[in-house]
Parts: sequence; C-alpha cells; structure tokens
Amino acid sequence: PDVIRAEYLISAVRQEQYPPGDEPEIAFIGRSNVGKSSLINSVCRHRGLALTSATPGKTQTINFFRVFFKLSHNNSEARRQIFFVDLPGYGYAKTGRSTRRQWAKFIEEYFLQSSRLKRIYQLIDIRHPPMESDILFHQWLRRQGLPVKIVATKSDKITRSRMKEHMGVIARTLGIEPEQILIHSALSGAGRDELLDDIVQILLQ
Ligand code: GDP
Repeated sequence: PDVIRAEYLISAVRQEQYPPGDEPEIAFIGRSNVGKSSLINSVCRHRGLALTSATPGKTQTINFFRVFFKLSHNNSEARRQIFFVDLPGYGYAKTGRSTRRQWAKFIEEYFLQSSRLKRIYQLIDIRHPPMESDILFHQWLRRQGLPVKIVATKSDKITRSRMKEHMGVIARTLGIEPEQILIHSALSGAGRDELLDDIVQILLQ
C-alpha cells in the first residue's frame, strides 16, 4: 500500500465547511510542536502539504486533505480515497484559559459529529512522558468511545536502547500496552510502513 497523491481541501472553522463525502476519515492530533504536520507530510510524501513550523501556536483551523491510496490486495490493485484531518494542537503553554476553552468546544464539535471518523492518531513526542493535556485528552477520547491510537513521534531523537523504556513510560501513563503504540520518524521515515498498514486495515474494514 502507498499514497499516490494527496491534496489540501479546506481549512474549516465550522461544521458546515467540512467537505462532503462518505470516505473514511482519519484525524491527527497532539500537542503543538509534537511533529504532526511533519508526520502528515511524511505519510503523504508531500513536503508542503501540512504547514510545518518551528514556532508553535498556529491558527486554530481544522484542515482537511484528500489522500489517494493504492492497495494491493489478493493479487489485485485497488484505489481508495480517504480524508486526513489535521486538528489544531493543544497544550501550548502561552495560550490562556479562554483560548483553551474555545479549543475544547471547537474540537468537541468535530469529534462528536463525525460519522466517517474511523481513527484518531494521537501523537506523543517519544522523548517525553505524556503531559497532563495529553492524558486528559486521551481519557476524554476513550470515554467517548472514539477509536484512538497513539503514535510516538520523532523516534530518531532517541537511541534504540532507550526506545523500550520510553515506550513503557508512555504506555503506563496512558493505561495502554506498549505494543499498541506506533512509532514514527518524519526525519528517517521509520515506522511509515507500519502506519500505512494500520491505515489500510481501516480501508479494508
Ligand atoms: P506540529 O506543530 O505538531 O505540526 O509540529 P511540526 O511538524 O511543525 O514539527 C515541529 C518541529 O519538530 C519542527 O522543527 C520539525 O522539524 C521537528 N520534527 C518534526 N518531526 C520530526 C522528526 O520525526 N524528527 C525530528 N528530528 N524532528 C522532527
């Protein structure tokens, strides 16, 4: 499986602006600077698709992309479309309480309305234990019964020997098994195939 093509569709601030269609939808979320834009660009092999920057706290919009997949399945090839959704980052230290409340309302509306939402990848920087905002948000998603999966990002930043220990901390803190966590590096491309395989499982459901 691989991505053939990906295109930016729209930045929405209201539900009416979400693009129409009933293709499966996959959302990406995490703290600002976790490497979300880099991961989306890496999966799509498209440098400028999601805007990356070294300065966190970007505009609060829900960005939709259309992604075309090629699947090889039982000796035949199929093409499928899927929506990728880049959600605004949370937990940026400099945002005040009212901004956080606004974020929560905005995000809640998104998660609770979407019937085509098949997976949420919540991104955690592999170097650090999940922070309070990560934990609270993870618990909220699970309480809502939403299909969340953790991706540990920037795996190139730690040595192989530290990997197991870090994964253990992330898993324990969130109350999941280390084996449930996907690992990814946008820099080296490590873990990209596993992430694509995971997405294909959704497409084949
Ligand atoms: P976002 O705010 O979550 O969208 O994060 P970005 O994708 O803009 O990345 C934030 C910073 O981390 C940028 O300076 C990126 O170059 C860097 N970064 C993102 N992913 C990786 C990665 O896999 N490896 C390394 N070494 N740096 C990364």
